[in-house]
Amino acid sequence: MNPRKAGEVVLRGLPVSPGIAIGRLFLVGLPAVDRDAATVKPSEIDRELDSLRAAVTALKQEIERAQASATGPEKGIRRTHLMLLEDPSLVGEIERQVAENQRSLAAAITTVMESYEEKFDAFEEILIRERAIDIKDVCTQLLNMHIDRYQRAILTPEEPFVVAARELLPSQTARIDRAKLLGVISELGGATSHTAILARSYGIPAVCGIPGLLSALHPAARLIVDGTTGTVIVNPKPATLAAYRQRQATIRADVCELYEAGPVHTRDGVRVTLLANVNRPEDMTAEIVKTVDGVGLFRTEYFFMTSNRLPSEEEQFRIYRDLCERAAGKEVVIRTLDAGGDKVISYLKAGHEDNPMMGCRSIRLCLQRPEIILPQIRAILRAAVYGNAWAMLPLITTRSELERAREIFREASAKLEAEGVEHRADVPLGVLVEVPAAALNIRSLLALADFISVGTNDLTQYTLAVDRGNPRVAHLFQPLHPAMLTLLAKLARAARAANKSLSMCGEMAADLENTMLLLGLGYRRLSVSPFLLPPLRRRIQQVNVSEARRLAARALKLGSRREIAALLDAENTRCFAVPVP
Ligand code: PEP
Ligand code: MG
Repeated sequence: MNPRKAGEVVLRGLPVSPGIAIGRLFLVGLPAVDRDAATVKPSEIDRELDSLRAAVTALKQEIERAQASATGPEKGIRRTHLMLLEDPSLVGEIERQVAENQRSLAAAITTVMESYEEKFDAFEEILIRERAIDIKDVCTQLLNMHIDRYQRAILTPEEPFVVAARELLPSQTARIDRAKLLGVISELGGATSHTAILARSYGIPAVCGIPGLLSALHPAARLIVDGTTGTVIVNPKPATLAAYRQRQATIRADVCELYEAGPVHTRDGVRVTLLANVNRPEDMTAEIVKTVDGVGLFRTEYFFMTSNRLPSEEEQFRIYRDLCERAAGKEVVIRTLDAGGDKVISYLKAGHEDNPMMGCRSIRLCLQRPEIILPQIRAILRAAVYGNAWAMLPLITTRSELERAREIFREASAKLEAEGVEHRADVPLGVLVEVPAAALNIRSLLALADFISVGTNDLTQYTLAVDRGNPRVAHLFQPLHPAMLTLLAKLARAARAANKSLSMCGEMAADLENTMLLLGLGYRRLSVSPFLLPPLRRRIQQVNVSEARRLAARALKLGSRREIAALLDAENTRCFAVPVP
């Protein structure tokens, strides 16, 4: 059966952001991967050829720039790449694929690259094989250049829509007009992929990791996305549509109760600090400010991703000041730029890496390229005059990184002082614990850090060696793994001993199944997406901390995630199940 022709088709994936969306499809085809659907109409051929010329020119300029500072063999490689780009046979062949076979540019580049690979595979000679590697390299760079340009130009339809893609990058999601975005679905991606986090922060339903999604879609498809169960229905029958509309209305009515103001305490009176994870100052509405104790994580990279160039110090200052002012004296934890991994920011020209999650991302990139982080640090120190700003460093792995970052903060402050620019020198500087090495060496880091916060998304990824965005290993992404619990308990003990503030801002804090365990382990500051604040507040109010401590002690003795999850399930049911009237 061809799903494109069939009537209602039900697909299943990972439920990553709850709620129901109903709307038309907007397919974001990432050209590099969306190759099966990669033919273009005759009227689009000229546009693809123009894109090819633009990508070739931009890549040549980039290589020439890099060549100017290259030495030794690197210079030679770049020269070869330039020659290949100027050689009419390679670019001509790509042109022919587009003009004669009506291939999209991305598909044409890939086809040509593969045909060269096949041709050269038959040869034993090392020189010919090296030539094949150069051609592959140039084609890949060309493809990336084209994708970069394509992503920057993403246009969205007039009507509200559900966005679908094989893999949706956070930079793409961040560019889509939020007012029209009803839901997000993708073939790849897991519950803590940044696109999933973004969907949750927008409060829109999302389902990721849906096998066969793209082949089940057609351009005019109408979709139902149930982000609570992980179901996507393509071309729903009228009866299905009516049933989901009914459920959507009920959910909306539920959501309307919402935001209680004031501090939150557990059932036995223990104060818990409730914080919000935000991506934009506007996310801190007056209603949310009243319900929280502050911002536990401001992910600054989202406005870097929606810009076409590095935001200036002044632009950043205005954003951080706006956030501080909205928070009205409550704490605001501003995380320094966490670029790289799946958060690609093309104008940073961070370069290709085979294993970007382990590569030069986040604080590593910023320390290697101070020009990226300096304006940000200055902007944070200046904005701190208008509120209670804290600065937090992502992906710290070694103490020397923290020492270097502290130095840069000190130097920035001294420079501002010398320039007579109003700022605060005493902005607390903390560490986002996301790497097992940092967790294991936490005592040493705590001696230098003013506070720590646990980023369980990356901490789980790196502790368990499981890509957080890969649905094939989503079942192995286990924040409740015994190794994670051991690290979390260690962090809580160390922070208490050092008398330093400890928070959790990873997605583990947002799952109500974990609330009792986290309070039992000693976590008293939880930071979650604004839409998840009301249920978390209610759950905290139901917990008895002495019971929670006993639960945590039992959980720490168990040797598998399955046993820990079963224990939590039983305790949560016992303590929080709504009694049947
Ligand atoms: C984390 O890794 O848990 C975290 C808070 O950072 P991000 O999800 O932005 O990587
Ligand atoms: Mg992280």
